[in-house]
Amino acid sequence: MTDDEAPGVAVQGTNAGEMLRLVATGAAASRADLARLSGLSPSTVSQRVETLIGRGLLREVGAGKSRGGRRPRQLEVPVDGVVIGAVDLGAHHARIGTLDLAGRVVESRSLEVRVEDGPESVLGTLLTEVTELMRGASGPGAVLRGIGVGIPGPVQHSTGRIVSPSRMPGWNGFDVVSFFAGRTDVPVVVDNDANLMALGEHRWKHPELDHAVYVKAGTGIGAGVISAGRLHRGGQGSAGDISHCQVFTADPAPLCSCGNTGCLEAVASGAALVSALRERGLPVQSLPDVMRLIDDGDRHATALARNAGRSIGEILAVVVNFFNPQAVAIGGLLADCEPLLASMRSVLYERCLPLATQTLLIERLSTGADVGILGAGQLVIDRVADPL
Ligand SMILES: [Zn+2]
Repeated sequence: MTDDEAPGVAVQGTNAGEMLRLVATGAAASRADLARLSGLSPSTVSQRVETLIGRGLLREVGAGKSRGGRRPRQLEVPVDGVVIGAVDLGAHHARIGTLDLAGRVVESRSLEVRVEDGPESVLGTLLTEVTELMRGASGPGAVLRGIGVGIPGPVQHSTGRIVSPSRMPGWNGFDVVSFFAGRTDVPVVVDNDANLMALGEHRWKHPELDHAVYVKAGTGIGAGVISAGRLHRGGQGSAGDISHCQVFTADPAPLCSCGNTGCLEAVASGAALVSALRERGLPVQSLPDVMRLIDDGDRHATALARNAGRSIGEILAVVVNFFNPQAVAIGGLLADCEPLLASMRSVLYERCLPLATQTLLIERLSTGADVGILGAGQLVIDRVADPL
């Protein structure tokens, strides 16, 4: 956490999970603080606090400072023991971790994975690993509250099913929630990786923003949308998925895994850069190889990165004009690519309405490698605080 002030700000439309965060970060210590920060009535706050206490998510301790009358009871989030597990699956790596009920990462680490091994093998291994991590780090009496899982492909929100992912052979239609339900007693919440990234960065870095777009540019490309302070999933869960939006390309437009040509994914994703450079005979196997070539000033790699940045900027310009976010943040491996960022910015300024860009924040994600884990933690906390 680099910004100590940000978590003290209440997001618009404070829900029970958000109340936990306000107490966990020390921004609120009483019902009165929660009412002031959330703008909710004291009776609504009291009702929610009682529910959270009943679920063991908040507890009352000692007494606070007196302002002349009866001393108010202090609220705190019980953080003894590890209670949440998190899995953030990528194309070649997965990040797994444990978090406390305040949503803070207790422990995390990366594992190499091969998504082409199929969902049973990959998710089975990750469940074993994260369960071990949770058991190893749990304090006495700790209750395992849930596991949050991020998938690098479209996830139908109501069912937790993966729908037509790119570069994930054998995963289409896979029911992640049922798979986990048959193997663990702990509740499991699933979402796509860009949504997890958006949730992690928004809650921990910029909770004061009501409207923001978070782009994940790694092997694939996607985005998560925060609207009115909440993650906006849309009707099915595909909101923010910009991967198959069409961009202007030189002929012939590259063929995308979806069967169309000229999709953003086929032009500007890390996978697209790798295959374009390989076609030119350059010795690249993965996105880090591409990043090294760009760092070394290879002109083909740099030109491709600039072109990718322009394409991302083109799509984001439509998004910004349409949605008018306060911030656009970019994360994933490609966020470290200067030529890409520079051309993305310039297209955004060129193509957007002045009113949309006047105060628009365009920045790199700053929460670090655990951003997806933090998002997965929030997903679980929101679910246990506000069960469906
Ligand atoms: Zn496509």
